[in-house]
This record gives sequence, C-alpha cells and structure tokens, in this order.
Amino acid sequence: MKEQIQEKFRTLYGCDGEMFASAGRINLIGEHTDYNGGYVFPGAIDCGILAEIKPNGTAKVRAYSLDYDEFVEFGLNEEDKPEQSWASYIFGVCRETAKRGGKVEGFDTVFAGDVPLGAGLSSSAALESTFAFALNSLFDNGIDKFTLAKIGQSTEHNYCGVKCGIMDQFASIFGKSGSLIRLNCKTLEYKYFPFNPEGYRLVLVDSCVKHELASSAYNKRRESCERAARAIAKNHPDVEFLSDAKRVWLDEVRSEISEEDFIRAEYVIGEVQRVLDVCDALERGDYETVGEMMYQTHFGLSRLYEVSCEELDFLNRLARKCDVTGSRVMGGGFGGCTINLVKDELYDGFISAVKEQFTARFGHAPKIYDVVISDGARKLE
Ligand code: ADP
Ligand code: MG
Repeated sequence: MKEQIQEKFRTLYGCDGEMFASAGRINLIGEHTDYNGGYVFPGAIDCGILAEIKPNGTAKVRAYSLDYDEFVEFGLNEEDKPEQSWASYIFGVCRETAKRGGKVEGFDTVFAGDVPLGAGLSSSAALESTFAFALNSLFDNGIDKFTLAKIGQSTEHNYCGVKCGIMDQFASIFGKSGSLIRLNCKTLEYKYFPFNPEGYRLVLVDSCVKHELASSAYNKRRESCERAARAIAKNHPDVEFLSDAKRVWLDEVRSEISEEDFIRAEYVIGEVQRVLDVCDALERGDYETVGEMMYQTHFGLSRLYEVSCEELDFLNRLARKCDVTGSRVMGGGFGGCTINLVKDELYDGFISAVKEQFTARFGHAPKIYDVVISDGARKLE
C-alpha cells in the first residue's frame, strides 16, 4: 500500500511528502454505556488509513483516493465543501481544525486504507484521525490529542451527518500497541490497560446484515435509561447518569418504573461493572475471565437490552460450541460483527465452523477479520 501511495504521489505532484497513518478500532467491552456516562474499552487495530501529504503553498487541497481511484480539489472555506463523501471527511477535518484556531493551508495528498467500510471498525474515524494528526504536525499547531479526537467527531457531526460519540476518534488517536484504553464517557478520564493475549487471537465475524430496527430502537433504549436514572435520582440526588447508580438503587425503584425500563437499566449497570471486572482481569493476565465477561455482555445485550438478532445470537452460540473463550456482539446491535477471543489451537476449527454453518443457515457467508491491537495516529519515519 505504501509503495503504491508513494508512486502515485510522485506521478501526481512530482515530489515526495510525509507519511501519516491512523487506525480503525474495536471495543472489547462496554456497549451502550457511552450515553449512560459509563465506560467503554476500545483499542486501535492493525488496519487503518495511510496518507502521504505535503503542503503545496496554495489555498487549495488536492486529494487522491487510491481506493476510489478519484481525484478531488477543494478550497478551505466553508462554502468549498466537496461533493464526494470521502473528501468531505478531509474537508471537515480542515474546517474543524481552523475553527479551533489551527493553521491550515493547501496541501497535496494521496491516501488509501484497509479498514472494511461500514463493518463497525470505524474506517471513518481512521480517516479523520489521520488527517487531524497530520495537519497538526505539518502546520505545527500544537493541538492536544483530545482536541484532535474532537476535530474528528465534529467532522462527523457537521460535515458527514453522523451524530457519533467520541469513542471511535478517541481510540484512533490515542491507540497504542498492546493496550486497550478505558474511557470514562462522563468525565473523559482514561487509562491504558495491557492487552497482550499470547496464545489467543482476536477475530471479528461480520454477519453482513443490518436490520432496520437500529435507530428507533436506539432512541427507545436511551429513553428507558433516562427514565430509570431519573427515578433513582429521586432517592440518590448525585445520580446524573445510569452509570452512577448502584445495582441495589435500581431495585429500590423497581415498582416505580416499567419492567422494560428495569431490565434495560439492569443491563447497563451490569455492563459498567463488567468493564471494571475485565480491567482487573487484564491486569492479572486472566483472559479466561475476560472471555466469560464477553459472553455475559452478549447475554445482556440479547436478553435484557434486546439489541441482538438471530444472526448474532447464532454466531454467539456457535462460538460457545467451539469453546471460544469470549464472544459478543460488538457495536449498537441488530447486525454487524461479533468480536471473539479465541485460543490459537481452536481458531481454524472455529472459523471453518462459522463459515460452513452460518452460510448454511442464512444463505450468505460471513466475513472474517483478524485484528491485533496496534498504534493509533502517528507519523511514519
Ligand atoms: P465505518 O463504520 O467504517 O466508519 P462509515 O460509513 O462511518 O463506516 O465511514 C465510511 C466512509 O468513510 C466511506 O464511505 C468513505 O467516505 C470514508 N472512507 C473510509 N475508508 C476510506 C478509504 N480507504 N478511502 C476513502 N474513503 C474512505
Ligand atoms: Mg464511521
């Protein structure tokens, strides 16, 4: 990929630039916790975006996407937004950097990536983070890393029509090889934990389905959580988000809220605790406990939070049958991937069982992505 980018860069612009990269991400555990002020636990992965960039001394950006085989030129003012969606991510990063007082002048770029698009690995955050990091470095803006992540998030909000949280861009900017990052979505405090599962592999199984339910169900889940948190806050005024509540405090209000709100809240409070338990387990190098927590999360998402689907439950059951250490749906639910922690010696058996049995049952093959926890945004020497 690197050689192809460099060759194209020379052909288009007649010189060499500097190379920058960033990564897609996984979230090991901590699902539907972000809007409840709880923890998420992401890490950057070994697939991402690679870009060669050089300031060109003009007020224009010239960008070539190798994957789309498309060249776009655009200015840096608000009215210059390009039509191509891939280019609007780059444009958005330029605008959001400028809005925060950063210097952004014209540049030339060629870039490519290997994060599967729309699979839940956040190829868009990889793209934003690469350019946010690169512009900061090239124009010597001295913007801190958190603000770089926010530049990516605001790009999605303001230029791509996606109202996302901060996790994806955070993971893509802060990611570090061999580490997962626990992010407190309320305070934005974060902490690195070791993730070096020797003897295990992390593999994503993409069901390649996306059910319609997703966005209306998402809003309903949020409302349930807010009602439960409000009920608890009557007894415990410090409770702002559901993640602030203890399990027994939820029991106190059981008769005041609907059964549905109760089980949704039960899942969230359990999930916040599971993230903490997984962090403890990782500090002990206890990957079996990590895996068991992943299964518990899947159970919660499927039976309590009810955001799973037939395909994902099938993959989860199959993982259990194949003695996979941990498995759960990753992301908002109703489709997408499961994330699996698999012992090396069981890997081949699991993957062939998944391919055979999933295809036989649902009539299409799942996709398999092996991932390794790796570095996030960086400059390549
Ligand atoms: P994801 O879940 O992977 O983030 P999104 O729909 O949010 O999916 O983002 C995918 C979009 O990001 C693509 O449609 C494209 O505009 C842009 N993108 C991601 N990777 C690349 C790439 N390698 N080259 C060009 N554009 C990319
Ligand atoms: Mg995205």
